[in-house]
Amino acid sequence: RSIRVELGERSYPIHIGSGLLAEIGERCAEAGFPVRSPLLIVSDSEVAPRYLPALEAALRDYGYTVVHHIIAAGEASKSLAVYEEVMTTAIQAGLDRRSAVLALGGGVVGDLAGFVAATYMRGIGFLQIPTTILAHDSSVGGKVAVNHPLAKNMIGAFYQPSMVLYDLDTLASLPARQVSSGLAEVVKHGLILDKDFAYWCREHAAELLALQPEALGYALERGCAIKAQVVSTDEREQGLRAILNLGHTIGHAIEAVGGYGVFLHGEAIAIGMAGSALLAVKLGRDKSIYDETVSMLTSLGLPVTLPAEYSEDELMEAMMHDKKFKEGRMTFIVPDDIGTVSIVDDVQASLVREVIAQLKKEGS
Ligand code: NAD
Ligand code: ZN
Repeated sequence: RSIRVELGERSYPIHIGSGLLAEIGERCAEAGFPVRSPLLIVSDSEVAPRYLPALEAALRDYGYTVVHHIIAAGEASKSLAVYEEVMTTAIQAGLDRRSAVLALGGGVVGDLAGFVAATYMRGIGFLQIPTTILAHDSSVGGKVAVNHPLAKNMIGAFYQPSMVLYDLDTLASLPARQVSSGLAEVVKHGLILDKDFAYWCREHAAELLALQPEALGYALERGCAIKAQVVSTDEREQGLRAILNLGHTIGHAIEAVGGYGVFLHGEAIAIGMAGSALLAVKLGRDKSIYDETVSMLTSLGLPVTLPAEYSEDELMEAMMHDKKFKEGRMTFIVPDDIGTVSIVDDVQASLVREVIAQLKKEGS
């Protein structure tokens, strides 16, 4: 399966399938990386032991010189300190202007390696090899970044990869919670733009959770295609791209208040999407929007309620920091139906507070 992200001269293909790691040499050549320029693979401590040896062997067989840099798994590695360490490896290995950085891992590796690629010698080649379901979202769209201690993703760039290579075989080792978390962003893409696909996800939930290749390949293809479609229309997030934030205003607040890692990103935004659906009903949309959203999310093993210990005050405070908040009014992505959303920019903060209280009540 292949999709093309249309961005003029920065357009690039996404290849999805089994056994793709073995084709990496041909793919790098196709992406225009010359064999005489060294390649740098960035991976993490969970992914590298499983998939790095095969990837390196395939590249060397093809004639490439390869070095690697392995970071500790986890969000803490998306830092300026780790960024500098990767840069050191790149400089010592003699990467040149025609070299490329290959990101082998989830969103953490992709965001960090992408920022290295965007800034090493003012930008060199970049290829994404996502190994999580969540990374179908992060590997498409060209946002790359590291975190600042005061704010997540604050130091970054828009930098498109030359190619995304999604080898479904690598997903087999993903822990079950990571599978569900990634599927939250997949079904989000259906909820914002494709009703049939959202229902398809619920119908095929068991196959998706079992990582059945046919279902998974289709889900990732549709998820990537919808993201690509939105990004092609609005590469630099001036307007339409905001709809990708469905569930994220509340979700980010849950992550910030609970501490990163208590809820995985997809779990937090699943609760946020349930919240957006509640908000929709409060704003007069049909009650079935909430019921259907919740049933889709729970079928994928995702949470849809907030534990009682989360304080409304703290969550509201966190959302105010999220800058989408002016004079008691905030901007929310609100579903109009399954598969279609509106950007509503004058939602009363008091209504959001009611939604949060209700998310807790539904859970008790
Ligand atoms: P992650 O990269 O931390 O991966 C999750 C965990 O799974 C890690 O412990 C990792 O080591 C492990 N793992 C990865 N692949 C594995 C495999 N195949 N088998 C076994 N274990 C594996 O996190 P993620 O959920 O992929 O991505 C989250 C990150 O993505 C966040 O930093 C977020 O900010 C970023 N993100 C970026 C964008 C964007 O547009 N750039 C969009 C969404 C999320
Ligand atoms: Zn997200």
